[in-house]
Amino acid sequence: MTTFQEFGLKEELVQAVQALGFTTPSPIQQQAIPLLVQETTDIIALAQTGTGKTAAFGLPLLHKIDPNDQGVQALVLSPTRELCMQIQEEFVKYSKFSRGIHTLAVYGGTPIGTQIRELKRGNVQVVVATPGRLIDLLERNAVNLEEVKMIVLDEADEMLNMGFRDDIDFILKNTPVRESTWLFSATMNADVRRISKRYMKAPKEVAVAKENAGNENIDHQYFVTHAHQRFDALRRILDFAPDIYGIIFTRTKQDAQDVSEKLMREGYHVSALHGDMDQKMRTKVMERFKRRQFQAIVATDVAARGIDVNDITHVINYELPEDPEVYTHRSGRTGRAGKSGVCMSLVTSREIGRIRQVERMAKTRFHKSDIPDGAEVVRKRLFHFLDKIEEAQPEHGFGEIYKKSIHEKFEAMDKDELINRLLWLQLKDTIKDYENAPDLNAGYTDRRVERETSNRSGSVRLFINIGTKDGASVDSLIQFVAEMTDIEPGMVSRVTVRELSSFFNVPADAVEFIAESLGQRKFNNRKVRVEEADNKPGFSGGSGYGKPRDSYRKGGYEKKDYGSEPHKFTRARKPQNKY
Ligand code: AMP
Repeated sequence: MTTFQEFGLKEELVQAVQALGFTTPSPIQQQAIPLLVQETTDIIALAQTGTGKTAAFGLPLLHKIDPNDQGVQALVLSPTRELCMQIQEEFVKYSKFSRGIHTLAVYGGTPIGTQIRELKRGNVQVVVATPGRLIDLLERNAVNLEEVKMIVLDEADEMLNMGFRDDIDFILKNTPVRESTWLFSATMNADVRRISKRYMKAPKEVAVAKENAGNENIDHQYFVTHAHQRFDALRRILDFAPDIYGIIFTRTKQDAQDVSEKLMREGYHVSALHGDMDQKMRTKVMERFKRRQFQAIVATDVAARGIDVNDITHVINYELPEDPEVYTHRSGRTGRAGKSGVCMSLVTSREIGRIRQVERMAKTRFHKSDIPDGAEVVRKRLFHFLDKIEEAQPEHGFGEIYKKSIHEKFEAMDKDELINRLLWLQLKDTIKDYENAPDLNAGYTDRRVERETSNRSGSVRLFINIGTKDGASVDSLIQFVAEMTDIEPGMVSRVTVRELSSFFNVPADAVEFIAESLGQRKFNNRKVRVEEADNKPGFSGGSGYGKPRDSYRKGGYEKKDYGSEPHKFTRARKPQNKY
């Protein structure tokens, strides 16, 4: 078995690794460290977060720093501020016993003045930076890259997805004495290839196996709202999910208490569950929750540990947890026993970076969803109620007694009018509540999705009227599309399965054919309807869909098509009809 001692690393680095308790090098470390220590070479390493990649480039990088040279010798570029900070923290640990090595992290979102002052001290040999902030510092002549020998592009695919391509180009062009470029990326794509072709010399390639991507039954969504509208956003999401059986997570006991009390006051069937409640009370809450007397509980992480329920439909992060690992624990409460589930996170635009952090750590992918507007909530509740009427099985004899009087009373009223009045009575509170309801979405466009969408001009997003309610999952949907149209499963991408509907991408030239082939089919007895989704920038997963194309509408709507109303989180304004 290989050990860190065998890699030829400086003694003080081996000592630091031991102090950290790393006994065995991870696969990416075994491949990359000896190579990078012994040779001056470019490298492309395919490895995800969690594989030990930071040490895989960090240890050889620190090994090669000359402590007697005070200039910037190495540069690490990373996509986000959080990752920058993480790398910096790891580097500080690795160089704990190394004298005269100074590392500095520079990233956006914090005052540039402090960073300039730190750089001006002139003893920083390793700069860990986000591309945007580094360019800013270069333009202010606050940093000198003329002596940089090593550059690491960490999470290169993510940086390119985030639109840093020009910045990376600029930085690479402005490092004249660069001897080696180490590119680390979770995936290899055309953009990453382009960078490697243009700026790297005969790079060696190393890769580690892709890790398990987590529970694929869970749809991870996030909603961007303003801090002061967090509670309203929660209410709206709850109203849009009439059948929810969920857990709402807060960070503190006080928040759990406050949020549950406020929800109760608004008429929701919820309860708090946190450590300030005595055990007897907590047990009682859990019993009632299991009997479905509560539609949701508002819990802290610690208190929720004891929850052992299999049918949770939604996990809602009222606030994201500090630790990404906690996110995985929370989301794992849903999507159990082969069922699908949704994990929704409410964030402010400042917290988007945390979403990316969780994505990396939990190896998952989030979809940005829009908080529904008032009309969408009303519509959703209307269709939900219609479904309930259809499914209702009144007790035998009920209504028989009054049949005659009822007939007499409504003899003159036609059926449509009667239905209209009944529905109004049922929904009028919701309608009134949601009259002039404000838009709770904070303006934020997912640049990554925008880029991906625009990059994929050759692919078209389709809406399909089947979802988890029909027993669909990502896999079964791909299989269904492939079987019904005879296309390769690989041609179906970016599948998002929602409760009542789903979205997926197919190659543009096959759209017509695929939509027509599917339009005549049934999925678990539901007649399938396919429409082209609207690919406007900022759309994500289920948001926005275009006008149905007539040619896709084979067979039209059937009676039980209520539930097939697209479940949409969309910001696209509909005609000014509040229903
Ligand atoms: P990374 O993939 O760089 O984000 O690393 C994931 C985590 O694994 C970090 O917390 C590291 O400190 C830790 N780690 C890295 N290498 C090792 C190792 N050889 N043994 C144990 N833990 C490690």
